Amino acid sequence: MTPFAPHVYAERRRRAAAQAARAGLDGLLVTPGPDLAYFLGYSPAATTERLTLLVVPAADGAAEPDGVAQALAVVPRLEAHDLEVGAVGPVEALAWSDGEDEHAVAARLLRPGGRYAISDSAWALHVLGLLEALPGAALVPVTRALPMLRAVKSPEEVARMAAAGAGADAAFGEILARPFAGRREREVAADLDALLRAHGHKQVDFTLVCAGENGADPHHDAGDRVLREGDMVVLDFGGLADGYGSDTTRTVHVGEPSAQEREVHDVVRAAQEAGVRAVVPGATCQDVDRAARAVVEEAGYGEHFIHRTGHGIGLTTHEPPYMVEGETRPIEAGMCFSVEPGIYLPGRFGVRIEDVVVAFDDAVPGAARRLNDSPRALQVVG
Ligand code: ZN
Ligand code: ZN
Ligand code: ZN
Repeated sequence: MTPFAPHVYAERRRRAAAQAARAGLDGLLVTPGPDLAYFLGYSPAATTERLTLLVVPAADGAAEPDGVAQALAVVPRLEAHDLEVGAVGPVEALAWSDGEDEHAVAARLLRPGGRYAISDSAWALHVLGLLEALPGAALVPVTRALPMLRAVKSPEEVARMAAAGAGADAAFGEILARPFAGRREREVAADLDALLRAHGHKQVDFTLVCAGENGADPHHDAGDRVLREGDMVVLDFGGLADGYGSDTTRTVHVGEPSAQEREVHDVVRAAQEAGVRAVVPGATCQDVDRAARAVVEEAGYGEHFIHRTGHGIGLTTHEPPYMVEGETRPIEAGMCFSVEPGIYLPGRFGVRIEDVVVAFDDAVPGAARRLNDSPRALQVVG
């Protein structure tokens, strides 16, 4: 990933330190994965059983401890150099050697009995090891303690999300021109994977190709099913381009669709549109879900819309905030999330349409802007 300027990472740590203080935490414990990339610009080549841990101590803004302006990390000795060159900005590193108790080393930076938020992706090995080394301490998943930590994107981040979305649009445009009938789901999936990479994706997280009855399973993975005339085909694909994610779903039809297939597709398309339009100042996350769901329910398919309407996206392809009933958090400018209603008819077919949007950015103040925009009308493929 192209690094941002050093002050960007220091500012993120400063903001997190303040949020942690407000949440009554002693700090954040950040392990390799999206959180470490976010706070340090560092993504170790191999995430191994050895502990790498960035400590961001809570700070109320008055005093600024080490670990905020200058990052403070525990690192395996053999990766100390990787950290030094990989991290953006200076890091005060506490290296530990093989044979040492890495969790005891980390505990020296922490408060016994303290309460820390730890990366969701931290290995259980380290969570349990830290708890053992820090008697009385409490560790909570960071997305539970501070769910909005990475939710609001800066204009620079949105630009990368938009580039990822444009790459996904280009991939979809090209797949439409290729044959579907007579090929296996996984062959189409392999094409999508290659097209995403050809259009700037460094990492492909999923290329779901769900033909006919498989489309009724929202997370069906591409398999050996051969696509044939008459199939509705759900294509859900995404990954990371320059560190930031795309996530698109389109449903196409092999040959001419039936009247009911068209009807269901129209309902989902209208629901998706309603979800996007629900992003207005003052709206909450659940309002997006309610708006999309109302359209599906009105059409009589409510029981077949079996998942939430959307999820946040950024350095990962699935993260808070979630567009779901009960999520009363207000939508803020710069939040990026998917709007992806679906209808799933068991044994028959499914339809889902998904775009990633950014809320209220300067390009479209007061509304959602789609970050991918390939045609949503039902495409007939050959
Ligand atoms: Zn059909
Ligand atoms: Zn999605
Ligand atoms: Zn998706």
